[in-house]
Order: sequence, then structure tokens, then C-alpha cells
Amino acid sequence: MGVPLLDLSRQYDYLKDDLNAAVCRVMAHCGYILGPEVKELEQAIAELCNVGHARGVASGTDALLLALKAAGICPGDEVITTNFSFFATAGVVSRLGAKPVFVDIEPDTYNIDPNLIEQAITAKTKAIVPVHLFGQCADMDPINEIASRHGLKVIEDAAQAIGSEYKGKQAGSMSDFGCFSFYPSKNLGAAGDGGIVVCDDKEYDDLVDILRLHGSKPKYYHRIVGYNSRLATLQAAVLLVKLPYLDGWSRKRIEHAGIYNEAFADLDTVRTPVVKEYTTFHIYNQYTIAVPERDKVQQFLRERGIGNEIYYPVPFHMQDCFSDLGYAADDFPVTRKAAAEVLSIPVYPEMTESEQQEVIAAVREAVAAVAV
Ligand SMILES: *Cc1c(COP(=O)(O)O)cnc(C)c1O
Repeated sequence: MGVPLLDLSRQYDYLKDDLNAAVCRVMAHCGYILGPEVKELEQAIAELCNVGHARGVASGTDALLLALKAAGICPGDEVITTNFSFFATAGVVSRLGAKPVFVDIEPDTYNIDPNLIEQAITAKTKAIVPVHLFGQCADMDPINEIASRHGLKVIEDAAQAIGSEYKGKQAGSMSDFGCFSFYPSKNLGAAGDGGIVVCDDKEYDDLVDILRLHGSKPKYYHRIVGYNSRLATLQAAVLLVKLPYLDGWSRKRIEHAGIYNEAFADLDTVRTPVVKEYTTFHIYNQYTIAVPERDKVQQFLRERGIGNEIYYPVPFHMQDCFSDLGYAADDFPVTRKAAAEVLSIPVYPEMTESEQQEVIAAVREAVAAVAV
């Protein structure tokens, strides 16, 4: 039969009437830029994240870019981040003329290893950007403790973690800024690009607001050089329809993860996701296993029509665009091992029971086949 990695058309099927009506309302009121739906969504997301402020921006990438800029990151500064994430996390640092400094990850969570952060700090370090990868928060307490001891800003890349919780605290609410993405494949996805920056500090929030409007306040008076980066009103309207479903969707993902965990428990060769004791809510934006002979397993699943993806095949320090940073290929052993072993399989809320059984059977056959 085959099972897709993600099937957004099923979501559209049951939300069709509400989504179409919401889009039509925006088309008719014509407030396409920063219209009322954007304000409404910002308030709802601030409430969800338990923070004072939220500003809709054009993408998750821009959320990171504007947050770093608002945090005062300048050319020549160093920003510490994980070596294992989506490209945007590191790319935005370079785009500001700053230098990304990579830190290896924990082998079980794939998140930045707090024990390795301090040795990466120099006189030029200005900020730490932890990523809550796959929907589980990084170990924020030690990260924040190190940051406060060294006077560093902390910006959470929570693009994959909306609604996720660390010791009962919301992803994005535990540092200077939380950055979210509404890319369609995230747990809360728009019908195109979108993102949001959350924070508690009123001055930071004002800065993000100005930065998304070319640095102007009032209009046509530019205090700083900013960007053109607004969340489209149409996207905010789509997101407002979907937001009430988010918690239920994440719970469905957790349920699917539990079924996988049980189904693979007897296999030595399949490492299922590790949920730390500090994780009070893991939203499973991805369900990611680690297997030996990963590329062969992937090929087997492809032939069976089982959707899967490698997040991420190339650690940052091995990307061509970062070759000038001076890392050696054999730096970061934990990241390299993860990049060679990880495989994400379908976990989306609308996946049926029989589809999940098909994925389970295929994974079991695949690892048995590559073992011989
Ligand atoms: C998706 C994602 C981003 C970027 O978000 P976009 O909305 O695609 O720009 C940044 N960081 C991580 C970890 C992501 O998964």
C-alpha cells in the first residue's frame, strides 16, 4: 500500500469548510498585511507559550534572524549552537556577519550537549541558540545557568517544538526569545511560509516589531536598517483555524510514538527516541529512530513505499558553506554518528492504525534483511 511521511490533504479534508471560509474573509476585508488575524494569532500564541509578547514574521528562519538581531548580535560576534539541526539555525548567524560556533550533541536526545558549551565560549561569544530537535526540548536549565554566568543571551530555536514542555515550562518561554516556524510540515503548519518570535521583554518585542517593518517607527522614519518580514494575514487566518487542534494532534503523535516504541522494543538494532525525565511533553514533530546500515534500511523502506527522511544527513561542520570555520571532518563524533544512523518515519496524527502496522512490519523486515 505505502504510507506517506506526512499527508496534509487529510487535515484539509476535515478542516476544508473552516479554512476556506477563513481565507475568504481575509480576501474580502483586504487587510492583507498585519491584518486583525495576525494580532489575534499573536495573542493566542503568546498565551499558549505563557509569555508576554509574540510577533508574526515571514518564516521560522526570519524569526531566528530577527531575534538574533534584536538580541544585539553584530558582525564579529560568536554564537554557540548545536552542530545538528536544520540549516537555518546556523545560517542566520552567518547572515548577520557573526560566526557560528558548533557544539556536539547528546547521543540520546540529539540536542546540544550542555557539558560541552562552556569550553566553546570565548571573549567574543554573545549568545547560545539551543534547538529543541524533533519536538523535545534541549536541557535548558544548565544552558541558562551557563549563559547567565557568562552574560550571554539565549535564543530558543523552537521551530519543531510548539507546545513542547520542559519541566512543565513551554518551549520558547525559557530564554530571551523563542522562535517558531509555521512551515507546513511543523505541528502547527500554515499554507506557506510563516513564523513567530515570542518573548517576555517589552523592549525586545518592540525591537522585533520594528525590525519586521524595515526598522521604521513611525512609518518612513528609520532608526535602524530592518527587514521586510511579516506573517501574511492569510496565513494567520489559516493558523487560527488549526490552532485549537494542535494539542490533540500532538497527543495523537505521542500515541503513535508509544505504539512504535512497544513494537520495536525487542529489536537491539532499532534505537527508539529517548524521552528525558525533564521532558513533560514531547510533541514528536518527528519520530526518529537510529539504525545501523541506515542507508540500506532507507532503501528497503522506499521500495515498500514507506515515507521516511534523514534529518539531517550532513552536520553543520561538514557543510561546504562553513568550510572556512576551520573544523576538521572528524570533529564532533556524536553528531557524525547520528547523521549516519537517524531515520524519521511517519508519525503524523491522521495516520491510521493499519498504516502504522504497515510501517512497523516494513521496519522490522528491513532491519532483519540488512542484518544478514
Ligand atoms: C523548520 C525549521 C527552521 C526554519 O523554519 P522555516 O519556517 O522553514 O524558515 C529553523 N530551525 C529548525 C530546527 C527547523 O526545523
